[in-house]
Amino acid sequence: MAARLIDGKALALHVRERLATESAAVLAKTGMKPGLATILVGDDPASHLYVKSKQKACDAAGIYIDDHKLPASTTQTELLALIEKENLDPRIHGILVQLPLPKHIDSKVVLEAVSPNKDADGFHPYNFGRLVEGHPVFEACTPKGVIKMIESTGVSIEGKRAVVLGRSNIVGKPLALMLLQRHATVTICHSKTKDLPAVCREAELLLVAIGKAKFVTADMVREGAIVIDVGTNKTPEGKLCGDVDFEPVSQKASWISPVPGGVGPMTIAMLLDNTVESAKRAAGML
Ligand code: NAP
Repeated sequence: MAARLIDGKALALHVRERLATESAAVLAKTGMKPGLATILVGDDPASHLYVKSKQKACDAAGIYIDDHKLPASTTQTELLALIEKENLDPRIHGILVQLPLPKHIDSKVVLEAVSPNKDADGFHPYNFGRLVEGHPVFEACTPKGVIKMIESTGVSIEGKRAVVLGRSNIVGKPLALMLLQRHATVTICHSKTKDLPAVCREAELLLVAIGKAKFVTADMVREGAIVIDVGTNKTPEGKLCGDVDFEPVSQKASWISPVPGGVGPMTIAMLLDNTVESAKRAAGML
């Protein structure tokens, strides 16, 4: 493999260590740890696993957890009442509503009910709008993690040709805006993009979030590019794999992130980062 590895697991560990120190400073100043409310509705085993790993990471970073596991029969009104309670609780600085929600609940209504001041996931339209303006407060965790991963290489984003594959509201669009804010020249691609391989080959920074196993092949990658793989897919054998065909692409890239052990751990670390940042803001420490 020619490319150097962007080790998301190791980077996330560094972030958690820094946050543990910052949480201790918040506790010393206010008498309260930074607090995250986690809300999970229903029995989806993957969602239970995600929330558990987020809570474990919070523990390691000195963050207080207010854990809510609600039955699938929970009504939207009940869920909104719980969110309002957490919005008003001074011990809570971030609120995580684990997606997907059961079909009878409107996710958009629920996510907009979270106070923009406690929007640790960065999904609220107010925070999205702040990002569009170029004055972000809470930034969505996955794209924020991707930016930290690029920065960890020591390569400057400014002036680079960046291609973002995928235009979802939680990854592609906010990531493109974050790159733009850092002065990259950004192209966003999607399922209707014409001659996608040619566009990808222009990229010095290739950021991939489409949800198609091993979609990006070596012929789509410019020599020396930094390639970050957000995708999480299952191979026919049931193994986790990304959107990038890792081995051949790593022969052309200068830096590459793996799946697993890449963007996933950094996404969780950024949820903690947003929570601690929110607690510091509330305590007048920023
Ligand atoms: P999404 O909402 O399904 O969006 C996928 C995007 O990819 C869409 O914009 C779609 O284009 C585009 N796309 C699909 N097929 C394409 C193709 N053949 N050529 C070009 N573009 C194509 O997905 P998402 O929520 O952004 O997630 C993307 C991947 O990242 C998934 O594998 C997800 O599991 C993973 N993910 C990982 C993390 C993490 O923490 N590791 C976090 C979030 C997401 P259209 O808009 O035209 O349909």
